[in-house]
Amino acid sequence: MTHQIYNFYAGPATLPLPVLQRVQKELLNFEGTGMSVLEISHRSKEYDAVHKKASQLLRELMGIPDNYKILWLQGGASTQFFMVPLNLQQTGKPMEYVHTGIWSKKAIKEAKLYGSVNIVASSEDQKFTYIPKNVEFTKNTSFAHITGNETIGGIEWQQWPTVPKEVPLVCDMSSNLMDKVIDVKKFGVIYAGAQKNLGPAGVTVVIVRDDLLTRVPENTPTMLKWKTHADKDSLFNTCPCFSIYFCERVLEHLKTLGGITVMEKQNRKKAKLIYDVIDNSHGFYRGVAQKDSRSLMNITFNLSTPELEASCVEEAKKNGLIGLKGHRDVGGMRASIYNAMPLKGVEKLVEFLKEFKEQHE
Ligand SMILES: *Cc1c(COP(=O)(O)O)cnc(C)c1O
Repeated sequence: MTHQIYNFYAGPATLPLPVLQRVQKELLNFEGTGMSVLEISHRSKEYDAVHKKASQLLRELMGIPDNYKILWLQGGASTQFFMVPLNLQQTGKPMEYVHTGIWSKKAIKEAKLYGSVNIVASSEDQKFTYIPKNVEFTKNTSFAHITGNETIGGIEWQQWPTVPKEVPLVCDMSSNLMDKVIDVKKFGVIYAGAQKNLGPAGVTVVIVRDDLLTRVPENTPTMLKWKTHADKDSLFNTCPCFSIYFCERVLEHLKTLGGITVMEKQNRKKAKLIYDVIDNSHGFYRGVAQKDSRSLMNITFNLSTPELEASCVEEAKKNGLIGLKGHRDVGGMRASIYNAMPLKGVEKLVEFLKEFKEQHE
């Protein structure tokens, strides 16, 4: 009788049921050790194999070239908001950011602690309902930073911006890592908290081109240098073993499903089902994001009043559809439909939204 609920929370978020079941089965006896992965050494050969496999699988699935390091760190994506400028800023060269919503704002705030920040484009003029187009970064910048998907606003880059070739493009992909096929070579750094589209909370993935590891000032605390972790394969200190192990199981699962190409196809199908309900509702449901910037992962919409929204969230809950309330800062409703959300969950939501409309028009 487990798991009859479909969970649309933005993060931590739903995880693949077969992986949860496998982890449950393995919990008391990890890889035949007679111990749990939660209680064995991060230096043990059993854990080490899984640790290595997690990076291998991520590399294989995302097509990450050999000259990129994969780091498994703690502190969340929020820690990367300052580790990015700390590790990449070059004296005399400003940092350039695109401002697309609440997450980019937090990243920008931290960067300002380290030096001068230029906002090269912003969608604040229209309440962050779109991704700016034709964004231009200058040559003389330390790095260019974008937020791949604004989890709260529900807008996502559809086409990556071009950057001058000497400028590394840095992307916060916390909520859209592996939602579609991407060309990793376009980026200098990709970072993502795991708890949205990859695994449980507690670990953050940083994918960094190796020539960018040496910019960091000498007097930086050891733990805050990407290079420290790159040199030790993310085993400089005790790593978040359980979270990394869990991510490895998710990645194995993704591979058996056919990898990111298959995920992308399914994600487009899932998102379209919900956006179609919004678009065909004659204004009963109002999409927040402009059509050309719509997120595949976080679908934000409003009803005519906050009361009606609250009742929609409540009714949905009674139907086993949980977590549809929008972020507390923006209100409204939000359906987060990451890779692990089954098509069936989306179909059930769509059916519910249609019925709710009929009953309340
Ligand atoms: C959730 C989220 C973050 C913050 O992640 P933490 O791991 O909680 O620090 C940053 N950026 C984006 C786009 C997010 O969705």
